Amino acid sequence: MPTLSRKKFLCSCGYLIGSGLGTGMLAWLANCREHSQSKSANDSPTTKNNTLTNRTIKMEANFEPAYLKLHRTGELKKRGQQLWEIMRSCQLCPRECEVNRIEGEEGFCRASAQLEISSHNPHFGEEAPLSGRRGSGTIFFTNCGLRCVFCINWEISHGGQGAVRSLDELAQMMLHLQKIGCHNINVVTPTHYSPHIVLALDLAAAKGLRLPLVYNTCGWEKVEILKILDGIVDIYLPDFKYADGKMADKYSAGAETYPEITKAALLEMHRQVGVAKPASNGIMQRGLMIRHLVMPNNVSGTKKVVEWIAANLPRDTYVNIMSQYRPMHQAHAYPDIARPLTRQEYSNAVRWAKEAGLTNLDIQGFW
Ligand code: SF4
Repeated sequence: MPTLSRKKFLCSCGYLIGSGLGTGMLAWLANCREHSQSKSANDSPTTKNNTLTNRTIKMEANFEPAYLKLHRTGELKKRGQQLWEIMRSCQLCPRECEVNRIEGEEGFCRASAQLEISSHNPHFGEEAPLSGRRGSGTIFFTNCGLRCVFCINWEISHGGQGAVRSLDELAQMMLHLQKIGCHNINVVTPTHYSPHIVLALDLAAAKGLRLPLVYNTCGWEKVEILKILDGIVDIYLPDFKYADGKMADKYSAGAETYPEITKAALLEMHRQVGVAKPASNGIMQRGLMIRHLVMPNNVSGTKKVVEWIAANLPRDTYVNIMSQYRPMHQAHAYPDIARPLTRQEYSNAVRWAKEAGLTNLDIQGFW
C-alpha cells in the first residue's frame, strides 16, 4: 500500500478525501494490482514497477476516447466553434446572461472569452478509479457560474485566481498531463469555458492526445449544451448538490432551478455515456459518476437525491456519497451550514442510499 499524504487526497472539488479514507476506497486500493504490488522505496524500479507500468499501458492502448472519432471527421472543431458562437449572447449555463463575451463582456461567472486557468496537475484525491496510481490530470478553470457560499475553492471560483492562457497552451497542458502518465484529462468547473475546452481538445487530439475526457461539473448544466458535447465527453462527473430549489437559491446565488435542471442534465449525461464501469486495470474510461456532498442539517436533501437517482437511473449508477463538507468561505454566516457533518448525519445518508436500492456506492469518511 503506498503512503498517501493528506494533501494528495484533496478532491478536485476541494474537499479532503484523506481525512477519512473509507473502506470502499481502501478495498479498491488493496485489490488494485498496481497499488498492492507497489511501492516501497526499496522496490527495484527496473523490475516489478516497470512491468506493471508496461501492462497498464498495454491495457489502456485498446481504449479510444470518444472525441477522436469526431476529431477525425472535423466535427470536433465544428462543435467547438458552435459553442464559441453561443458566447456572443452567452447562454452556456442556466444563468443565460446574454452578454457578448467575445466583445469582452462578462456575465455572472465573471468570464469573458479570455480563457483563465488556475492550475494543471496530476491529482491523487479524486475517486479511486479516476486517480489510479498515476493521478487524474486535473485542469482547474477560473471563475464559476454557480458560486456556492461554502465553496472551498473560492479563491479560484469567486476570486478569479488564475492566469490568462491561449487555446494552444490549454492543448499543451493536456498533452503534458498525458506525457507524465495521468489516466485522464479532468476539466474542473468547465461549463463557462466549454468552447475553449473543445477547441483545445481538437488541437491536442491532432498532436496525439488519447486520454479520456472527464467533465467535472456542478451538475447545473443545460441539456442543449450537453447535446453539443455528445460524443466528446467520456466520463461525466457531476455533482447533485440539492434536492430543494430553496436551498440552491439560498446557498448557490439564486440558483433555484438547480434540482430540476440537474435532474434533466443527469438523464442526458447517462444517455450519452451510460453506467460507469472500470476497465480491467481498475481505471474508469467511460460513464456517469455522480457526486453527492452530504451537508449539515440535511441542507442537501440527501434522501430525496438518492431516491430520485434510484428511481430514474440504473440502480448500479456510480454514486459517491461525500462526507467531506467543511464550512468554508462564507458558510459561517449561515447557521445551518456553519459546522462540519456529524457521524450520524453521514450514517443516515449512507443508509438512505442503500435503502433506496443503489448498489454502486462510493462510501467515504467515518461510515
Ligand atoms: S457561462 Fe457565464 S456569462 Fe455565460 S450564461 Fe453562464 S454565467 Fe452567464
